[in-house]
Amino acid sequence: MKRIAILACILLAGACCPKNHVSSPDGRISVRFSVDADGVPTYAVDVDGEPFLESSAMGLFSDDVNLDRGFKLKSSRVKSRRETWHQPWGENKEVVDSHKELALRLKNDAGVGLEVVFRVFDDGFGFRYAYEVPGADTLRIHGERTQFAFAADADTWSIPGDFNSYEHLYRKMRLSELRNANTPLTLKFSDSLYAAVHEAALVDFPEMVLRNDFGLTFQASLAPLLVDAKDIKALVSGSFQTPWRTVQIARSAVGLINSSLILNLNEPCALADVSWIKPMKYIGVWWSLHLGVESWGGEGHGATTENAMRYIDFAAANNIQGVLFEGWNDSWRGSDALPDFDFTRAAPDYDVEKVAAYARSKGVALITHNETGGNYLRFEEQLERTLDWDASLGIHAMKTGYAGGGLSGGAPRHSQTGVRHFQKVVEEAAERQIMVDGHEVIKATGLRRTWPNFMTRECVRGMEYNGWGPGNPPSHTVILPYTRLLGGPVDYTPGVFDIRYTCVEGKPQLRTWGRPSSECSEHTTLAKQMANWVVLYSPMQMACDLLENYEGHPAFQFFRDFDADCDASEALQGEVGEWISIVRRAGDRFFLGATTDETGRSFDQPLTFLRPGVRYTATVYGDAPDAHWESNPTAYEITTRSVTCEDTLSLCLAPGGGAAVSFLPE
Ligand code: CA
Repeated sequence: MKRIAILACILLAGACCPKNHVSSPDGRISVRFSVDADGVPTYAVDVDGEPFLESSAMGLFSDDVNLDRGFKLKSSRVKSRRETWHQPWGENKEVVDSHKELALRLKNDAGVGLEVVFRVFDDGFGFRYAYEVPGADTLRIHGERTQFAFAADADTWSIPGDFNSYEHLYRKMRLSELRNANTPLTLKFSDSLYAAVHEAALVDFPEMVLRNDFGLTFQASLAPLLVDAKDIKALVSGSFQTPWRTVQIARSAVGLINSSLILNLNEPCALADVSWIKPMKYIGVWWSLHLGVESWGGEGHGATTENAMRYIDFAAANNIQGVLFEGWNDSWRGSDALPDFDFTRAAPDYDVEKVAAYARSKGVALITHNETGGNYLRFEEQLERTLDWDASLGIHAMKTGYAGGGLSGGAPRHSQTGVRHFQKVVEEAAERQIMVDGHEVIKATGLRRTWPNFMTRECVRGMEYNGWGPGNPPSHTVILPYTRLLGGPVDYTPGVFDIRYTCVEGKPQLRTWGRPSSECSEHTTLAKQMANWVVLYSPMQMACDLLENYEGHPAFQFFRDFDADCDASEALQGEVGEWISIVRRAGDRFFLGATTDETGRSFDQPLTFLRPGVRYTATVYGDAPDAHWESNPTAYEITTRSVTCEDTLSLCLAPGGGAAVSFLPE
């Protein structure tokens, strides 16, 4: 009798109190879910038994139907998963997904069903909402209630969230003083606790940024659908789910970089055949346009047939797989886009068929460039025809651009409209086996797992800013690996060898905007430019400088040897905004990049990542002893030595400097 009573009690407890907590596989991160007195879902997180996030609200809100209150928890389930999956390219081609999942089903007094799903990994957690609104065809979303109520103050690195651009300098601020941040927002609580807030699988929904009025509680804020109708954030059907809201957690700064959480929260590859998707190194007519020694069109036109042939020859001779010609299209000449814009109309001095045939004959991939000026509707009208035309010429890589203030029709770039458009471009491109490098598009949230033809994107204050004005300070590219790159690859376009822009001297200035000033420079040493080919990961990695600055230059051998198609990566040492040492393996070769901010530093790098029993020739492309980003940026030296995994390399980085190291098996 007593035994039956106990059993009944257990069954009853199971029925009335569904399981509401879950821990990471290693038990260090635990998430607790609850519903407050108003029926608002909430969650709280502990790390190593200490509060990390205090009770934080969850959910969305709409003026059309009650999506955010009056909920009761109906049931829940917990499951575990451990699997290894592979991707055609990436920092790591093999990825382990090990997590525990807690899914909670709720219903409110308006009959709205809500499923909250948490996935907790050893390197952080994510959660998403799936709503069922009976009888609703279209629903307006007016905002998001999700909070991140941090339990402690921290140092943070972020750019402001303006829903339109990521081309900002990063700010280091105390969390308690931060009011507005885009994601990834990176936090350092102590020397052994780092975190980054971001989102994963951003599909058919606006971008999330974070806002805070006071204290340490941050609130999700969604990009509005239109600039002049700010209250509506998204239009959804009666049955919809949101992207994942994510928090990566690591015990070291480089631990954030070595996390695969964002990819693990994306859907598996949607493409049956990925054999045509190939990482590449590339060069092109681009930097010359920003320096103003060539132009997008008219006088001094850079993308001419003759110049294209020269670039293709250089690529073929230097183990470079791709070439890009900006300004090939007659309709785009910097700011004066023609009204009858045609994405397939080449400039009169650019014989696209001849260039494409020549590139094919040399085994070099042509990267086309479609600059929309933000007029996404015009691009969508011509999209299928344009991509068909590209494919017919054997062009299987495309750079897109959305320069200007925003998208046509008054939609912010990071609105649901923008997210839908960028996704449409990627899917239409995939259908024609075209790889995409998106500029001024939506931030990276791991969709490359599902659509691996979305190779890389800008979404950063990149190299171009160094050509126009004060540019990017030495710390910028040692903040990016710990912030922007947590989302995914970046087309930063490193590799300027002519740091002081001597190639501009004595030539007419052909650029009509943002005149170069005396402050224009790279703010790095030459060796740091090279190291950034490794540090700033992109499966389409550009050597951006003019060919004459590479021709005959001994240091260019590193790029010739470098392989953009790496198999595995490890961020080894470093600190946010100060320095980094990172290694990538491609086949049996290794490439290491180390960079520093304006502070010079020496450090020892154990070579334990090398294969045991193999001897390598290590070639260090480093700063000369007297190198300095400001006073002596081009002083470099190349040294070689024979090493094994038992050796340690001592590297000396100049102020604003770096080192690029190749390890080739002997
Ligand atoms: Ca840009």
